[in-house]
Amino acid sequence: MIKVTENIGKTIGLIRQAERTYERAAGTVRLLAVSKRQSPEKVSAAARAGQRDFGENFAQEGIEKIATVNDPHLIWHFIGHLQSNKSRDIAAHFSWVHTLDRWKIATRLSAQRPATLGDLNVCIQVNIDSDPGKAGAAAENATELALRVAELPRLRLRGLMCIPRPTDTHAEQRLPFARLRELAEHIRGRGLELDTLSMGMSSDYAAAIREGATMVRIGTAVFGQRTRPED
Ligand SMILES: *Cc1c(COP(=O)(O)O)cnc(C)c1O
Repeated sequence: MIKVTENIGKTIGLIRQAERTYERAAGTVRLLAVSKRQSPEKVSAAARAGQRDFGENFAQEGIEKIATVNDPHLIWHFIGHLQSNKSRDIAAHFSWVHTLDRWKIATRLSAQRPATLGDLNVCIQVNIDSDPGKAGAAAENATELALRVAELPRLRLRGLMCIPRPTDTHAEQRLPFARLRELAEHIRGRGLELDTLSMGMSSDYAAAIREGATMVRIGTAVFGQRTRPED
């Protein structure tokens, strides 16, 4: 059994260290523990270690895990590709969606969010380096989408998310994160109160924290290798 408790402590330690190094206020960066293809037992172990936020990429797997873990204190984030035919399930079981990138899905999530639950927190995923093979709204369309999403009932627009193309150096890693931060500032200038930048993973979290990340998404460093390879 891998040492989830120890890994959570280490990862939080690295995040706090980066906050100090880059003069971010202490405790302003939240760890989103990415539990896709990890067992419910590992999630429960992380929860016992004080971890609250968990990220899942696949609707069905996530919903089963939420039911198995069955801990009302946990906050579940959907961070995978959003398919129209899964939007109802996602709206009913998750507290956050980080990968909203088109108007049609926004209207579905808004209409399908059960009235018995609070607002669904959403981030707009931006294809920050205009990678043709990647999901996300184009940066030039993100402001318009944000303004429209902010008007929808039962959704609460929290901020922006990105998954930049991998690069080798810290200096290169900073560039797309800086662009996402500037885009969020631009949208704030249009009157929306965004409080979230979901950016940074295991390999680039320090650059993301330097550029203003409020949530970093880390999986294998917390839970160990996933059970099946990525598709
Ligand atoms: C899988 C995943 C992560 C975490 O990746 P690790 O390499 O396990 O740290 C972060 N963000 C997204 C969107 C992911 O799909």
